[in-house]
Amino acid sequence: MSLKIETVLCRAGVMDNYSYLLTDKETGITAVIDPSESAPIVRRCKELGLTPQYVFNTHHHFDHTDANLQMKETFGARVVGAAADSRRIPGLDIEVRDGDSFMLGQSRAEIIRADGHTIGHILWYFPDDKALFTGDTLFNLCIGGLFEGTMEQMFSSLEKIKNLPDDTLFYPGHEYTMGGADFALYLNSDSPDLQHYLKKAQDRLRKGLPAGPVTLGEEKKCNPYLLAEHPEQLRKILG
Ligand SMILES: [Zn+2]
Repeated sequence: MSLKIETVLCRAGVMDNYSYLLTDKETGITAVIDPSESAPIVRRCKELGLTPQYVFNTHHHFDHTDANLQMKETFGARVVGAAADSRRIPGLDIEVRDGDSFMLGQSRAEIIRADGHTIGHILWYFPDDKALFTGDTLFNLCIGGLFEGTMEQMFSSLEKIKNLPDDTLFYPGHEYTMGGADFALYLNSDSPDLQHYLKKAQDRLRKGLPAGPVTLGEEKKCNPYLLAEHPEQLRKILG
């Protein structure tokens, strides 16, 4: 494990976005994932003595990129995002594509394209650190809405996530756990895995912590959208 991960809540109470500060322990090189609001990120960076050299975006939506330009101005960060979003991500400096590797110091990220929520959405996967940043593709107990892609595209993106190792921790773009809980309970009220999942999440949220991260193994057992076995089933669940 060479990566230190700090969660920063942005747009609190409005959209409850999560940005993440990733620091490669060997070199101290830092990136901020999806900076949607400058103030909480700058504050946390000051507290921790961090200067992000990079912004990593998962997709173009404003509540993931709104502070890109401020990160460049304040820290001199360079913005890294999908080539497919080159015209839509503010301040994009470095384009990445599906299957690319990107080094944050000595920590290696793999870029996984995940169309569905948007076309050109990417996941940032750090296999050696067992960490996956899912943006608005996968949330705790739910998934992102289909703004641009088709059900088939979303299903195939979720398949890519399901194929990653179970002990991978995933870090979503919003705190939507309790929003997803009602529907998961409605479908699967007597699942002991789900009961356990929710108890842990509620305990953490009550303490003012993010509900996650949870492992993909846990998520696969409890998230109704990951339990769908084909696109048609996913369509039914989405209603
Ligand atoms: Zn989005």
